[in-house]
Amino acid sequence: MNLIFLGPPGAGKGTQAKKITEKYGYPQISTGDILRQAVKDKTEMGLKAKSFMDQGKLVPDEVVIGIINDRLHDADCKKGFILDGFPRTVAQAEALGILLDKLGTKIHTVLDLAVEEDELVKRLTGRRTCKKCGMGYHILFTPPAKEGVCGKCGGELYQRDDDNEGTVKKRFQVYREQSEQLGGYYSKTGRYKKLDGTAGIDEVFGKIEEIIGAA
Ligand code: ADP
Ligand code: AMP
Repeated sequence: MNLIFLGPPGAGKGTQAKKITEKYGYPQISTGDILRQAVKDKTEMGLKAKSFMDQGKLVPDEVVIGIINDRLHDADCKKGFILDGFPRTVAQAEALGILLDKLGTKIHTVLDLAVEEDELVKRLTGRRTCKKCGMGYHILFTPPAKEGVCGKCGGELYQRDDDNEGTVKKRFQVYREQSEQLGGYYSKTGRYKKLDGTAGIDEVFGKIEEIIGAA
């Protein structure tokens, strides 16, 4: 099962992708996570991507397409994969189509999570992530038992640099201008589902399971 998660920043793509990975074992491929790691490691790619990310802009297509090309060739993707945060432009979606043809596979379901911007601002400014295992939290909605400490592995929680209100607004603008149209792009394939992402995490997951179970 090959899945794509679409939706604005904070819609719950990473949260839901992690739940699918946990239950079904398909690897979660987050271009945002891969880029943040590259920034942390100060690789050539990370140094190139950092200023785009800090400003809430998209990293150039060729960089993220290169990331996905490498990652989808890994053996663990043969059993299926979940794309979280890619594609974000039509050019990326077209490049993905060509790559999947070459690999002899396809996307089975595209899940587009819809959430209003006011709610997204609350989600993003309260988001915290474990430095060690990547587990996601929210200071109000899903707080850890002990403040600042991951309940799963004991790692330290951090707030992403781009989750401040100013950068968040820019990311919404970029989403509306460059990514939102992907809903229209994939709806033509008959494998596209838009779903309400405002319900609780488990309720959204239940809907996703219904959809992927029927696919
Ligand atoms: P995305 O990957 O789409 O940017 P995340 O999955 O990281 O978004 O979710 C953003 C924040 O919102 C996180 O703090 C997460 O815990 C919280 N969150 C995700 N889904 C829900 C939900 N259904 N209800 C409430 N909070 C949620
Ligand atoms: P995310 O973790 O998905 O919220 O992504 C964080 C940031 O990484 C984005 O604001 C972009 O700067 C960059 N990024 C992640 N995925 C992509 C992508 N597919 N195309 C371009 N930039 C991306």
